[in-house]
Amino acid sequence: RNQLQNIAKATSVPRKAVKPRAVEKDLINLIVVGHVDAGKSTLMGHLLHDLEVVDTRTIDKFRHEAARNGKASFAYAWVLDETEEERERGVTMDIGRTSFETTNHRIVLLDAPGHKDFISNMITGTSQADAAILVINATTGEFETGFENGGQTKEHALLLRSLGVTQLVVAVNKLDTVDWSMDRFEEIRNNLTVFLTRQAGFSKPKFVPVSGFTGENLVKRMDLRWYDGPCLVELIDSFKAQAPQSDGPLRIGISDVLKVSSNQLVVSGKIESGEVEKDDKVYIMPSVTAATVKECANNDGWEHCFAGDFILLTLQGTFEPESVQAGSVIVRSGPDTLIPAKKFEVRLVVFEIATPIIKGAKSELYSHSLCMPCTFTKLIHTINKSNGEVLKQRPRFLAKGSTAVVEIETEHDVAIEAFTSCRAFGRVTFRSGGNTIAAGIVEKVITPQ
Ligand code: GDP
Repeated sequence: RNQLQNIAKATSVPRKAVKPRAVEKDLINLIVVGHVDAGKSTLMGHLLHDLEVVDTRTIDKFRHEAARNGKASFAYAWVLDETEEERERGVTMDIGRTSFETTNHRIVLLDAPGHKDFISNMITGTSQADAAILVINATTGEFETGFENGGQTKEHALLLRSLGVTQLVVAVNKLDTVDWSMDRFEEIRNNLTVFLTRQAGFSKPKFVPVSGFTGENLVKRMDLRWYDGPCLVELIDSFKAQAPQSDGPLRIGISDVLKVSSNQLVVSGKIESGEVEKDDKVYIMPSVTAATVKECANNDGWEHCFAGDFILLTLQGTFEPESVQAGSVIVRSGPDTLIPAKKFEVRLVVFEIATPIIKGAKSELYSHSLCMPCTFTKLIHTINKSNGEVLKQRPRFLAKGSTAVVEIETEHDVAIEAFTSCRAFGRVTFRSGGNTIAAGIVEKVITPQ
């Protein structure tokens, strides 16, 4: 602890200002959520087609196949539904990865399933997302079904916020079925805005009228008397990328240890923030091991590496086998160094599990490349899924599907931190008996005095 305090007290070594290499387009991980049958797959399938990511021949093939199966209307949806089983059932089960480009961004699409059983898949997707599209079915009676008790609209929106997603576009879909009614659009916008801003905590959700089926307002602005705002792709383009912070504090998450000897280490990992080059003095956490960078290179052979780079590092120092592991983090000294800890406050969402989580329950914590046994030491409070308010202080257990704030303690010190400090090291999942039981974000690191 003394050594750690000294590392944190040390004044930061000034870094010469170097411009990171220009990245052509920032990457955004986008998740699409909404009640089952809201039209998520159709909407995104049509969008990919209009952006020419998927060609007309493929769509035609799907159209024939779909017609043969008596599900002609699902042709666009099938672009995203990959497995036979999903097609037969007509639900999107897994998170299919597809990417496309807008003017400013490269978008990786994490397609979330809407079916109730598959909420845990959605959480896995959401925990990687930077931004989200919430798809709403505007058909008479359907918005109400999705929004009221039992519907998934509120649950999905709160889940997004619980897992740290703040940027949201609401696609008010299937407006073709209500004759592009302005009143219907406004009714949905008003109702949802109250919920999304007051209860879920989104600051400025944007709304766009669309039809995923007939294709209006997806990539081209539609000529509507009462709406002359941006189309869906323009709104996606306006999302802010969580740009890798090259001027932030150094954080390299180690994913592989390739070689350990008493005076040299070779590791690979990703720079989540900051920059690094030869001769830099660094520390490996949580073992608090001092080291000097002897060589570093990214995939393109660059020797000065920046946030976002996957790198290979050779370090010199005095090492023990336990000095470094997958999940260790490389930092610099100074006030913004990472202090390893064992106790954390985590806001999490509980998956479909057979046995509720009780105080004292054991689990394994996963974060970036880290895996570490942990215990749920306090169940602090549960959160109401339909309004986001605190439901119960000190609950006796956490049932499946609940959202809660808990305190956890890991078996040994680990290098993770608050989600607000570093997204990559603040997202955590919990597994037990081979199943993922919960996922969430670190809200607070409880550092020992
Ligand atoms: P998901 O469960 O949210 O992925 O919904 P799907 O994309 O599978 O769509 C469910 C059903 O709604 C399918 O029959 C679609 O053809 C239909 N659908 C989707 N979007 C629209 C739309 O904008 N207008 C109309 N009329 N039907 C739509």
